[in-house]
Amino acid sequence: MSRAFAYVILGGGVAAGYAALELVRHGDGVSPGELCIISDEAVAPYERPALSKGYLLPRGAARLPAFHTCVGANDELLRVQWYTDHGIELFLGTRVVSADVRRKILLTANGETINYKTLIIATGARALKLEEFGVSRSDAANVCYLRSLEDAHKMEGVMRSCHGGNAVVIGGGYIGMECAAALVANEIKVAMVFPRKHCMDRLFTPKIAEFYENYYAAKGVTFIKEARVTSFETLSDGKVTAAILRDGRSLPADMVVVGIGARANTELFDGKLAMEKGGIKVNGRMQTSDAAVYAVGDVAAFPVALLGGDVRRYEHVDCARRTARRAVEAIMERSDGAEERGEKGFDYLPFFYSRVFALSWQFYGDNVGEPVHFGDFSVSSGPAGARPKFGACWVSGGLVAGVFLEGGSREENEAVASAVRSRARIGDMAAELESRGLAFAELE
Ligand code: FAD
Ligand code: NDP
Repeated sequence: MSRAFAYVILGGGVAAGYAALELVRHGDGVSPGELCIISDEAVAPYERPALSKGYLLPRGAARLPAFHTCVGANDELLRVQWYTDHGIELFLGTRVVSADVRRKILLTANGETINYKTLIIATGARALKLEEFGVSRSDAANVCYLRSLEDAHKMEGVMRSCHGGNAVVIGGGYIGMECAAALVANEIKVAMVFPRKHCMDRLFTPKIAEFYENYYAAKGVTFIKEARVTSFETLSDGKVTAAILRDGRSLPADMVVVGIGARANTELFDGKLAMEKGGIKVNGRMQTSDAAVYAVGDVAAFPVALLGGDVRRYEHVDCARRTARRAVEAIMERSDGAEERGEKGFDYLPFFYSRVFALSWQFYGDNVGEPVHFGDFSVSSGPAGARPKFGACWVSGGLVAGVFLEGGSREENEAVASAVRSRARIGDMAAELESRGLAFAELE
């Protein structure tokens, strides 16, 4: 069968949902029958961050439809009915297996072809597998990855069967930190194994990392640093019972959670579109090297105006939402001026966040230059009622390049975001925060 649409969104994750909403809302928005979304997931676009947080709660866990997009940005909740109401076709459980950008045709695994006039690529990223590091058994019944709803469903089931048992978490990044907290909340003992001296090594300073490591240790998490899992011990049914480290140590495991990084899903377009930074290269309008094709979310490498046009690829939800909106704006404007072509870059303030236990941090900007810490790092597991509040400013050429803030209120987070956006002088930063009533900013 062959179908044709004016707009096709390839991928059905966060960016897809936000792009669809924007296409509908835009002044000359899409008409019924003009737009389709193709996703190999079985459900309509949802807020992926919920999978490692609300979805894994021991009580009152979040379930669909409560976390479909675009609820994460305090916007409309797009249930399946919303797509029907707007004449948007959802091809779910449908994998695209090849793309011909010259002829503007996608081929699905079922042998269907879908023609487009404008394509938005929103294929996101996938979890790296242990096999890529020479360790087998990723397919074991008690080894969990966490990228999709299907993965979260598996992890939740395994977790329920391991109550009071031991989990080995492999990786000290976002998935490792958030899943370790979820496992503890579900009364499972956690050993975290990662290759670096500190967790979240690419963002946290050693001082920030130590705070979280002490906090986690007080919750019973054991950190096994500068170590790698090289194999598993298994039962005859293939179930893992222990993780073996390179130095021969054996860690008992009723379950294993793996979070060792992600890779952007670009393969369909290899050799067909320009690539950079492990993603599809776009201009500041999210337009690829083919004028009819846009790329958004985890898969897009775009010039960031705030960073002097430096090309970056972010694997974070705020970026997925904003690049999706930017692409739709650009598609609808269809302007050809130099500025509009996005050569100066997208006006985007990089923003990441995480929430674990009772903690919540936000980061804005770029962690380049010298970090200057502020606030009180002494509250480790925290006396009842007390919330830690501290952070770091990265200073480059006397200007604030990035700010990390744990425990900030909405106003405080807005204040640091605005200081980063305006490239405040470090000396002015404390004063600016103080003028907003933020007395915590005691710079070292
Ligand atoms: P995705 O949301 O991954 O969507 C890609 C979609 O494309 C998927 O539906 C996929 O199945 C589909 N697809 C891929 N290839 C094909 C194909 N060939 N055919 C059909 N469909 C295809 N970020 C934060 O900033 N804060 C957080 O707290 C946070 N928590 C997270 C928790 C988890 C568990 C995970 C996995 C990620 C988290 N992130 C978080 C990152 C954030 O979710 C991603 O940056 C965001 O989902 C990227 O959106 P996307 O639309 O580009 O990709
Ligand atoms: P990250 O890149 O954040 O972390 C991967 C971690 O695994 C790093 O500590 C890395 O160490 C380590 N690692 C790499 N290889 C191995 C190995 N062979 N054995 C043990 N450890 C290894 O990826 P995640 O898997 O945590 O997250 C996947 C994706 O999900 C990312 O896109 C992330 O942005 C996203 N996500 C975002 C969240 C958020 O923004 N709050 C929450 C959850 C997921 P090294 O530093 O040495 O490479």
